[in-house]
Amino acid sequence: IEVPEGLAGRTKKSAEYFKRATQVIPGGVSANIKYFAPYPLAMEKGKGSKLYDLDGNEYIDYLLCNGALIFGHGNQKINSAVTKQMQESGTTVFGTPHRLEAEMAETITTIFPSIEKVRFTNSGSEATLLAIRLAMAYSGKKKLAKFEGHYHGGYDRVLLSVNPELGEAGEEEHPQAVPDSMGVPDYYVRNTIILPFNDIKATESILRAHSEEIAGIIMEPVLGGFIPAEAVFMSELRKLTSELNILLIMDEVKTGFRLTIGGAQNLYGVEPDITTLGKVLGGGFPVGAVGGKKEIIDLLSPTHGSDILSSGAASGKKNNVLFHSGTYNGHPVILAAGLATVRALKRPGVMDQLMINTQLLRDKLEEVYAKHQIPMKTVGMGSIFNIVLTERAVQNYRDLKHANMNLREKIDYELLNLGIYTKPMTRYSMSCVHTIEDIERTAAAHDQALTYVEE
Ligand code: PLP
Repeated sequence: IEVPEGLAGRTKKSAEYFKRATQVIPGGVSANIKYFAPYPLAMEKGKGSKLYDLDGNEYIDYLLCNGALIFGHGNQKINSAVTKQMQESGTTVFGTPHRLEAEMAETITTIFPSIEKVRFTNSGSEATLLAIRLAMAYSGKKKLAKFEGHYHGGYDRVLLSVNPELGEAGEEEHPQAVPDSMGVPDYYVRNTIILPFNDIKATESILRAHSEEIAGIIMEPVLGGFIPAEAVFMSELRKLTSELNILLIMDEVKTGFRLTIGGAQNLYGVEPDITTLGKVLGGGFPVGAVGGKKEIIDLLSPTHGSDILSSGAASGKKNNVLFHSGTYNGHPVILAAGLATVRALKRPGVMDQLMINTQLLRDKLEEVYAKHQIPMKTVGMGSIFNIVLTERAVQNYRDLKHANMNLREKIDYELLNLGIYTKPMTRYSMSCVHTIEDIERTAAAHDQALTYVEE
């Protein structure tokens, strides 16, 4: 990777930090996705729509902690809710039930009509993990179906066919399960059925052939947060899963509270059996949630299937209880931040303005690329989109493979140098605090970056 000369010169402290970090942290990063060559930029401060690195360079942030920071950095209302919670309660965490848990659960059930009951987790990964366990327990079946290219977290059960090499991944209409990591047990490869996104005919034939074994389908309603399911695909999938007794798990970790407040299910008018939430819900802190129909989520109750709370039931060891635990589940400070976030999002006009600004940025970027005669389309829905350098329609994981990745990468490094931050090759997430000036500056930076890469 040719890093623009200027970038190396102005990010010396990030390079030094990287050297130090790699001595004690593999790859110098706490999550593989945070790495990029030759070294990821290390940040020191954030304010509103801006990030500042160790050298003091300012960036307009479109990564937004992978979409979590819908109010940008250091939002006053969220900060106040956090300090108020700690001051008034006198502690950081109770380790017992507390009022904010029911308040947040009630808030979620009001916003998402498909959700009757909720359990909290510490991350989106934990939420999808629990959702899958619920589907297995509820159905008594053992296979999971997932779509090619869909991400649901960083653990064995779902690290399959997220980013497969096409040679290994089989036919487009019959994709094969390919592990995305070393160490994924073969059991999961054998017990996972991969489906082609946005292809209802192929999906239907696979599901019909395996319906007796498939406990549930987990899906991102919007692949990677930016390639939407077609409306008929979604409604047909819902019909099919109901007919075949397959639970539909909608992973709304990215889309919940972002695509619309009520997520993709609200926009599509499709009610899943189980929903997973995360990211925006934590107001910038780690959180996840699993919700859905009472009869499914109640499997988690320590008293499930028993009228008397025996010690066996209380510890969740009985066979008819689905065990779930976590020292920090339902953390009060995080729920306070999340409630402040959701409250602020519900204020009239807030979501509408976010959508208008995202569309404005997309329009301006498309104009810039058209001016440079570079085939490009912004692909997205709501407040997340990606820049895909292609003339083809983009409807699934394989369509992305036809895009000009090399050029995109070059542009992204130029953009870093020009003060636009998203990790190279990553989607753009917008916040409610990005301004028209940010949008103008971003479009101008793309214009300049394209001039540089053309030279
Ligand atoms: N599901 C989806 C759709 C996601 O986008 C993510 C994270 O990017 C996850 C699950 C995992 O969430 P977390 O990173 O909080 O574990």
